[in-house]
Amino acid sequence: MNPFTYVRPTTEQEALAALAEPDTIALAGGTTLVDLMRLEVMRPGKVVDLNGLPLNKIETGASSIKLGALATNSDVAYHPDVVAKLPALADAIRAGASGQIRNMASVSGNLLQRTRCSYFRDPASPCNKRAPGSGCAALEGFTRMHAVVGTSKDCIAAHPSDMCVALAALDAVVHLKSRAGERTVKLVEFHTVPDDHPNVESVLQPGELVTAIEIPTTPLAAKSRYVKVRDRASYAFALASAAVALDVQDGSIKDARVALGGVGTKPWREPAVETALVGKPATPETFAAAATQALAKADTRPDNAFKVELAKRVIARTLALVASGGSK
Ligand code: SF4
Repeated sequence: MNPFTYVRPTTEQEALAALAEPDTIALAGGTTLVDLMRLEVMRPGKVVDLNGLPLNKIETGASSIKLGALATNSDVAYHPDVVAKLPALADAIRAGASGQIRNMASVSGNLLQRTRCSYFRDPASPCNKRAPGSGCAALEGFTRMHAVVGTSKDCIAAHPSDMCVALAALDAVVHLKSRAGERTVKLVEFHTVPDDHPNVESVLQPGELVTAIEIPTTPLAAKSRYVKVRDRASYAFALASAAVALDVQDGSIKDARVALGGVGTKPWREPAVETALVGKPATPETFAAAATQALAKADTRPDNAFKVELAKRVIARTLALVASGGSK
């Protein structure tokens, strides 16, 4: 591992000052960063351990739940208000990683986790995300786990998070703080597609700290679920997943949210599909049409072409699940 400086601030002011320095990275649960530093994929000069900050609260307000940046994935997934008011979020976090990792992983770390593209994690391979301008080994390589939407000629890596897919569907907002002040960003606008800059993965600026994620607790959010299909029943990344919220009254769809995981270069929300669902009968035919529309622009490779049909079936199944109010 490359030598680095370690600091553990105990106030936000100290943390923001440390993060404002160049070649610095924040450490939360460490479930991504430590791995990548051991592999020498990430070689920061300074690590700012945030675990001395009081950012682990989960607060239920009148119209939202606010997750502190350092709340663990386990604490969020089993919080009674999250389970009751944001079931897709509880589903998604429980579907991710393993129990041990969820006990360590944080909300902000999950938000900022890096791709699992095997070429990214291998410093001997060309990778525009790890070493801008070096090329993309995946384009001529094995792509079974790679993305089919939001890709570019420079990167086709899939976003790995389950939690972020649910947050995208649930209209979450990210709270950010820096020495210049505070701001909020919609989760669907927080992550960026690779285009010609795969090394830039979000709108987080140098020196900015994620302090919380806030999710509205609407009646629609209470009617949400997350379904994930993967190679193993546990501890595997999504081949395809869907987070859906649906309001069905008298058999007709009044409101809808649809987000996809495992197939996009970022947590993939589909507003056009949601608009098309409204006013339609909640039937298998409607759900199948929505699924087809969601994948209409998929750009596949021989190894990952199967994801299109798989994702369509996951979307249709999740829509039917929420419409029925049933269990998986
Ligand atoms: Fe790197 Fe992206 Fe290509 Fe993977 S797909 S090798 S992360 S540039």
